[in-house]
Amino acid sequence: MKYLILVGDGMGDLPIAELSNRTPLEVANTPFLDSLCRQGELFLTHTIPDGYPPGSDVANLSLLGYKPEEYYTGRAPLEAAAMGITLSPEQTAFRCNLVTLAPEADNQVRMIDYAAGHISSDESHQLIAALEAGCASDTFHFHAGVSYRHILLVQGDYPQMNTVPPHDFTGKDVSAPLARYREHPQWAALLDKASAILAVHPINAERIAAGKNPANAIWLWGEGKLPTMPTLTERFGLSGSLISAVDLLKGLGVNAGLSIINVPGATGYLDTNYEGKAQAALDSLRSQDFVFVHVEAPDEAGHQGLLQDKIQAIEDFDRKVVGPIFQGLQESGENFRLIATMDHFTPLCLRTHTDKPVPTILYDSQQTASGCNLPFSEKSGEAEDKRLHNGMANGELLMEKLLERHKNG
Ligand SMILES: [Zn+2]
Repeated sequence: MKYLILVGDGMGDLPIAELSNRTPLEVANTPFLDSLCRQGELFLTHTIPDGYPPGSDVANLSLLGYKPEEYYTGRAPLEAAAMGITLSPEQTAFRCNLVTLAPEADNQVRMIDYAAGHISSDESHQLIAALEAGCASDTFHFHAGVSYRHILLVQGDYPQMNTVPPHDFTGKDVSAPLARYREHPQWAALLDKASAILAVHPINAERIAAGKNPANAIWLWGEGKLPTMPTLTERFGLSGSLISAVDLLKGLGVNAGLSIINVPGATGYLDTNYEGKAQAALDSLRSQDFVFVHVEAPDEAGHQGLLQDKIQAIEDFDRKVVGPIFQGLQESGENFRLIATMDHFTPLCLRTHTDKPVPTILYDSQQTASGCNLPFSEKSGEAEDKRLHNGMANGELLMEKLLERHKNG
């Protein structure tokens, strides 16, 4: 038996007036997801425990079968793991975004762009090198990641600053969260020095000249220490792989003991190498039991508020990932159980995540349909949940449901 979880990041949305009160998932043409839905079981999964921030970190940790209340230590240590950084117990990792801020009247500061125009890694690595050269100390060290996403390692104790994700503040005033760093002189000095270095860096001069958002500040958030999680092999005797373009997901995979498959051309955006991901998933299942495939593009479209891109990303996930994987497995003659879902909603109107329970398909190649006659959508998930009175599955129990361990207690 082979086991799969296919995740379209942030696919869920709210009804949109422009779409006659339908969602992008309802409007998108998704024949493969719809057919899995009709041949399988549809229910709602609660991926974000009450009181937790609805981040991809918490949500995907749940989907991988780990109770966030027990295992979540922050987003940055997971990304650090994906980058090959080994945290010692006295170190804390902070996610360090390169962002575009604009000072305004009345001491306000606006978050123009949480991703500094999705700066290229070539450019951002030069900026991070300059920050490391100018700001590193016994306490602080910068590590370059991908595009706008980097890591600051902090040695020893650090103050509680109630950090917030910058993508929650697109277009908004961030003077209040900034003030929380400024209460601590060492941190205020770090931010000021970083801004001073970035302000005069030729990369930013070039970006401004080209009409692009400059990376004129760092934004520190998602901090945490090293998580200690039992691997999926230890827990379930499973061998498996994880396929994603995103460091956070790779870090989750590393900590869960999965092999990380880096697919050439996997970008996390609309131009990602979907076909390569689907093929890599099928290849990995020849020798392993489990694969987790994550596609980031619908979430990025949600954060950017781009309706057509979101519909396109959902259709691509269906046609280029779900479809080929399903067909490939059927051709292989292998029995399989497959979950297709999302980690959370990223409504276009909010441009950030919410903690609504997510519609989830469970398909078993050996079982007949449960009688769901609906296409895959947010509404269908709610309707089926009511019809079957399943009660909402908690995210971390999904893995057990996939493996049918729940039946054996
Ligand atoms: Zn996500």
